[in-house]
Amino acid sequence: MKLIFDLDAQNRAAFDAAGGKDEKILYCIPFEYEDTGTVDGYMVLTPTHLYKLLDGKLGCKWEIDRMSEFSVEVMYGCAGFYAYYDQNSILLCRFATGKSLVRYTVLAHGCDMVAAGRTENLPSSDEPERYCPKCGRPFIRNTHICPYCRDKSKLYKTLWEMTKGMRLWIMAPLFTAAIALCLTFIAPYFQEILINDYILAENPLSFDAWQDWLWMFLIVSGAIVSIDILHRILGIVQSRISAVTGARFTRMLRTKLFQKIQTLSMASVQKKSTGDLMGRINNDVNVVQNFVVHLLPTYFAQLVSFVVGLFLILFMSFKLGVPILALYIFLPLPFVLIALWKFRRVMKLRNRRAWMLGRRTNLTLQDVLSGIRVVKTYGREQSAIDTFADCTEKQAKQNYSNAKLFDVVFPVLGFVMRLGSYLILWHGNLLLFRGLLGVGTLNRFNTYTGIIYAPLMQITTIPRNISEFMTSFGKIMEIMEEQPEIADIEEPRDVKLQGAVSIKNVTFGYESAVPVLKNVSVEVTPGEMIGIVGHSGSGKSTLINLVMRLYDPAEGCIEFDGINAKDISQTALRSQIGVVLQETHLFSGTVRDNIRYAKPNATNAEVIAAARAANAHDFIMSLPQGYNTVVGEKGYSLSGGERQRVAIARALIHNPKILILDEATAALDTETEKLIQDAIDGMTDNRTVFAIAHRLSTLRNADRILVLDHGEVAECGTHQELLEAQGIYYKLVMAQARAALEKTGGMM
Ligand code: ADP
Ligand code: MG
Repeated sequence: MKLIFDLDAQNRAAFDAAGGKDEKILYCIPFEYEDTGTVDGYMVLTPTHLYKLLDGKLGCKWEIDRMSEFSVEVMYGCAGFYAYYDQNSILLCRFATGKSLVRYTVLAHGCDMVAAGRTENLPSSDEPERYCPKCGRPFIRNTHICPYCRDKSKLYKTLWEMTKGMRLWIMAPLFTAAIALCLTFIAPYFQEILINDYILAENPLSFDAWQDWLWMFLIVSGAIVSIDILHRILGIVQSRISAVTGARFTRMLRTKLFQKIQTLSMASVQKKSTGDLMGRINNDVNVVQNFVVHLLPTYFAQLVSFVVGLFLILFMSFKLGVPILALYIFLPLPFVLIALWKFRRVMKLRNRRAWMLGRRTNLTLQDVLSGIRVVKTYGREQSAIDTFADCTEKQAKQNYSNAKLFDVVFPVLGFVMRLGSYLILWHGNLLLFRGLLGVGTLNRFNTYTGIIYAPLMQITTIPRNISEFMTSFGKIMEIMEEQPEIADIEEPRDVKLQGAVSIKNVTFGYESAVPVLKNVSVEVTPGEMIGIVGHSGSGKSTLINLVMRLYDPAEGCIEFDGINAKDISQTALRSQIGVVLQETHLFSGTVRDNIRYAKPNATNAEVIAAARAANAHDFIMSLPQGYNTVVGEKGYSLSGGERQRVAIARALIHNPKILILDEATAALDTETEKLIQDAIDGMTDNRTVFAIAHRLSTLRNADRILVLDHGEVAECGTHQELLEAQGIYYKLVMAQARAALEKTGGMM
């Protein structure tokens, strides 16, 4: 991560003038905000001073040895860099949180060291750059691709690669459309013969000539009609092919996107919302599909017709000796192109804004619908309606305003484009009056002009469609290009676990600047039951997330039977770990399907055995359809204890060597807890168990208890040992005993 930014000429001059000329720059980091608004500022640390440069001027200069206790604080919308100067706390500068938080955290640490007189081994950060240096927007996760500044041609190339296997089908409409268009060029030719040689024949016709005329008339009109019929048939063929290709393309892209989302790590998926992901899989894929399958071939076909039409018009106008007629067509073109070029940015911005608002609507919808219970219990329906109405209104307004602008700009441009044809009409009629041109010829010329104008008018719609397509495809690629942080190594090992787990000096934080676990070490032997206790937020769940390898530790490692977790294939690892969490998610489906989830090929007997072991068999048999009762989103609602027992059966079905229970009984009443506790007691034999429990009584069978305090291992030992030590665990036990006493006392 970059910690020494280059100063621009003005700021450099200010820095030199302030006496920094011969000093070594240790850190130079930009900041953005002042009371006056956004600024172009830098904090520069040298071995003796801290400089604040503001828009090419010296803002302030502090002697570093008079300063102490540098810190960074996140405020609303930005973050501040603080320090003590002669015992007074001062705000040094304010910066954008996302872009610079980690940089300033390092700077604060570095300043502390320099202030203490240590300029050797200053902290650096080997964390990869996460923000685009050009525009300051975040890169696509774990890559160096900025979705705004990226090279667009690469996107097209990727799209081209994606269409592999269906290119012929995508191109097919192009050919049919091109043929159909070329056919339209033939009709005017016959029309010209009809008009010039027959309808406007100057000499009165003899009877023979009349017969001749009739035949010719029939042939020519027959040709015109059959060309039209052929045209329509081609149209039908083209739509059929487009429909089939469209469906195939959509399926391909959706599957790819869905597969990709499945490979992303927890950390990354947690940052995205369900509504957002669904929007990308549904809407954006549709936009891209429409572009590739419908618009692109149309544009190509139009291009063909343009080239052919142009050739014919040039040929005709030269043959007639009036090349100026062809020129008229192109007269307005430069104006239109320049206008479109200028308008491009506005369009891009507006389309992005519409996309963002659409996404917000999706997010709100998903948020409210998935939390509908809470909405109802607090009687907040009206506020939910208002929020949603606000979202849809903003989105509608943006779409309306886009349409209002685009629907004026494009027709106006279309009219300008069309001016050429009016010139042709005027000049053509002039030539007609002068007798230099036949009516039939003028008619043919006009028809060609009409045909060539269709693609020319399309020019005005192309940028709008491309811009919409690029927005959506870019959003899809943001996911496709993301690199999962937790990936298997080249040749992962497929080991059979024995149950030994060693956690070695593990340090980890969700946001890298703030560690949640600090230097945690535990050795667990196979078959041991480890209880994990600690205050809420002390990092218990985080520790087991690391054991499950939903995240990788920043420092230290986790080993299973002496093998680093990173070397074991994720599938092998997860299939040997069973997990029961406080909140259980049941999928839509039968109870049997839900238990079988972890082992899809489990037999009925296995399902029942697992259910029995989880103390769930009896209650499942009493459900309306026993194991075939549909539960989940739209099904039968199970109570908390019942769900939990289904979850335990699910965790047991693949007979895992390692079992993880994260507050599995915390939300249950004592009666149910006892049932579950019995189930748990029955399944700890021969397994390594990590059990997090709020109620300490549930850990009575634990071989050892690990006490976490603010992310550090505070105590570790048996229940008896910890009680005797009279530390945190002792206090927790005492507090719970007192609470239980008070409760029973209150009841009596
Ligand atoms: P416990 O399970 O002991 O109650 P956790 O391990 O869930 O605590 O959380 C430890 C700390 O990590 C808390 O301060 C919590 O806010 C933070 N934390 C947990 N999950 C995330 C996450 N996905 N992103 C950022 N911070 C998190
Ligand atoms: Mg927890």
